[in-house]
Amino acid sequence: MRELREWVATADHDYYVLDRPRVADAEYDGWLRELRDLESAFPELADPDSPTRRVGGEVAAAFAPSPHPVPLLSLDNAFGAAELEAFDARVRRRLDGEPVRYTTELKIDGLSVALRYDGGRFAGGATRGDGTVGEDITTNLRAMPAVPPQLAPGAPRRLAVRAEVYLPRSGLAALNAVRAGAGEPLFANPRNAAAGSLRQLDPAVTAGRGLQLFCYQILAGPELDQWDALEALDRFGLPVDPHRGRCADVREALDWCLSWRDRRAELDYATDGLVVKVDAREQQLRLGATSRAPRWAIAFKFPAETARTTVRSIEVSVGRSGVLTPVAELDPVRLAGTTVSRASLHNADYVAARDVRPGDTVTVRKAGEVIPEVVEVVDHAQRGGDPPAPFAMPAACPVCGGPVLRVEGEAAHRCANAACPAQVLGLLVHWGGRAAMDIAGLGEQTARTLLAAGLVRDPADLYGLEASQIEPLPRFAKQSAANLVAGVDASRDRPLARLLVGLGIRYVGERVAQVLAGALHSLDAIAGSPPEALEAIPEVGPRIAASVHAYFSDPENRSLVARLRAAGVRLADPEPEPRPVGAGPLEARSFVLTGTLPEWSRAQAAAAITAAGGIVRSAVSAQTDYVVAGLQPGSKLERARDLGVTVLDEAGLRRLLQGEALSNPAQA
Ligand code: NAD
Repeated sequence: MRELREWVATADHDYYVLDRPRVADAEYDGWLRELRDLESAFPELADPDSPTRRVGGEVAAAFAPSPHPVPLLSLDNAFGAAELEAFDARVRRRLDGEPVRYTTELKIDGLSVALRYDGGRFAGGATRGDGTVGEDITTNLRAMPAVPPQLAPGAPRRLAVRAEVYLPRSGLAALNAVRAGAGEPLFANPRNAAAGSLRQLDPAVTAGRGLQLFCYQILAGPELDQWDALEALDRFGLPVDPHRGRCADVREALDWCLSWRDRRAELDYATDGLVVKVDAREQQLRLGATSRAPRWAIAFKFPAETARTTVRSIEVSVGRSGVLTPVAELDPVRLAGTTVSRASLHNADYVAARDVRPGDTVTVRKAGEVIPEVVEVVDHAQRGGDPPAPFAMPAACPVCGGPVLRVEGEAAHRCANAACPAQVLGLLVHWGGRAAMDIAGLGEQTARTLLAAGLVRDPADLYGLEASQIEPLPRFAKQSAANLVAGVDASRDRPLARLLVGLGIRYVGERVAQVLAGALHSLDAIAGSPPEALEAIPEVGPRIAASVHAYFSDPENRSLVARLRAAGVRLADPEPEPRPVGAGPLEARSFVLTGTLPEWSRAQAAAAITAAGGIVRSAVSAQTDYVVAGLQPGSKLERARDLGVTVLDEAGLRRLLQGEALSNPAQA
C-alpha cells in the first residue's frame, strides 16, 4: 500500500503540477483502484493522507496560492451501465427511496477553474489545485478572450462559478504539430494541453492559444437545481455547453449517456465521458460529499477508443526536419468519428519491439489528437511459406535518395540532404502555419504546386512571387493568386517570435521563441549569441542553446536569413523603451541565480530583477554584485563565497526589490 501511494503521488505530481503524465491513465486508474480495494480490505492500514482521499495536485510554486471558499472536488467514476445503476441505488438508499431526477452533461476534458464576479465584473480566478487551495491565475484568465469581463444585466452582484477551460481539438492538433516540428514533447491529452496553456507565466501566451471554457456549477450565488443553474449561467452571459439532458430517472440518464458514445467525436472539443448529476439542490445538500467527490454526481466513462484492423504495408514518410517515420497503411477503419487508413509506427525501435509486418492485425488509437498510432499487434499473420521480412529502415531517403543517418543516442533516422523535397515542402507548410508566419492560402496543396512549378525552393522565394506567375498554375485563378500574394506580403511584418517558430529550429516551439525574442529582440542578436549567452536567458537550457547556435552556424541557414532580409521580412521586434538612468532600485546591479527558490521560479526572479533595472548573468565573477541562492545551489555559490560576493536568499532579494538597503551583508 505504501508503494502504491508513492506511485500515485508521483504520478499526480507529474500530471497535475508538471502537466506531463508519464504513465497511461488506465495504468494510473488501476493503481488507484488496487489501493482503494486494499484500503477497504485493511481499514487499520488506512492513511488520512492517502491519494484516494485527496483531489488532484498541489499548487505549483510559480503561482500565488488562492484558497477556495467552497472546495472544488473531483468525481467518482462509473464504467458501464451496472456501475451507473449501482450509483443510483446508493443515492436513493441515502434519500430513503425518494425518486431522483438527473441532469446529464458532457464531461469536458480540460482544466477545472473557479471564477469570481463582483458587481457583475470579472474579479479573479484560480485552478482547482488540491481542491482546497488553487493557483491564482487571474491575469491569465483575464487575457483569455473567452472569459467574459462583464456579466449580462440581471446577473447577481456576487457570483462564483466553476468552469472547465479547454483547448478545442483543432487548436490542440495545431499546437501539437508545432511542438512536433520543434522536437518538443507532445501534449499527451487535451487536459494537459489546456493546463499547460493556462498555467503560463506569460499571459500573452495563454491569450494566443485559443482556449475556451464552459461553466457548469454555481459555487456562490443563487441556490438552484442543476438544470436551472445551467440555464441561469447561460442568462448571466457565461458560456455554457448547450448539450445537456433532463432525465426523469437513471434509465433515461443511461440512455442519454449511451446516445453520446459516437456523437461526441463530432464535437470540436474532447470529452472524457459524461456527468450524471442529481438535479434537486435540496437532495444534493442532503447527500453531501466525501473528502474527494460529491455523492450526488458521477462521471460515466467510455473506455479509450481503439480500433482493430489489418496492416497492408509499412511505408516510410519524411518530415520537415528530415526524420523518417514508418507509417502503417491500413485497411480503413472507423476510429473516434473518422476513417483511419494510416497510423504512425513512430520509429524503427517501435516497429522492432512489436515486430509489425504486413498482414498483421493491430489495434490503433489516436494519440494527442494529431495522427493515429499503432498500439500493438493482436495477431501476427501466418508466417509460413514466404513470410514478409521484418521491417528495416531504408539506407537511402525514399523521397530524394540521399543518405539516411541515425544520430547516436536518438531513436530517429534522418535524411541528411537538407534540399530533400520532402523537407522543403514540410518547411514551406510550416512557415505558413498559424503559429508561424500565418500565410492565408499557403496549405500543403499550394506548397506542392509551387514546388512542382519550380517557383520556390525555400520560404524566402515566397516573397518574390508575383500574381502573374501563380495565376496559370493548376487550381489557381486571378483572385486566388492575388490573395496568396497578399497573404505572403502581410507576413513580412510578423513578430520575431513567429519568425523564429517558422524557421523550424529544433526545440524552438512557441514558448521558447517568445523567450528568445523577449530577451534579445532581433534575429541578428540571437544568431550572433554564443551558446553560453543563450543559456544565460531564463528557461533556455543547454539543449536549446546548442540547437539555436548550430542552426545559425550553418551557412545554408545564414543565407536563408540573408535572403529573407533582402525580401523585406522584418527580422526584429521594436526595441523596448530604454530605461531612464537611475530608474529602478537595482539599476545596473548584476545578479546570478543558483538553486531552487522557495516561491519564485528562476524565470520569475529574473523578470523581477530585470524589471527593477538589474541585470541577470549566468556566471559569477568579481563584477557580480549579488548571488541569489535557493535550495541545492551549484558551484556558483562556492565561487561567490570565494570572491566575497554578497549572497542573498529569496527573502533578501524581495527586500532589495522593495528598495530596502542591505547595509549589513551578513544579515543578507
Ligand atoms: P476527473 O477528471 O475524472 O473528473 C473530475 C473533473 O471533471 C472535474 O475536476 C471537472 O474539472 C471535470 N468536469 C468536466 N466537465 C464537467 C461537468 N460538466 N461537470 C462536472 N465536472 C466536470 O477527475 P480528476 O480527479 O480531475 O482526474 C482524474 C483523472 O486524471 C483520471 O482519468 C486519471 O486517470 C487521470 N490521471 C492520470 C494520471 C497519470 O499519470 N496518467 C495522474 C493523475 C490523474
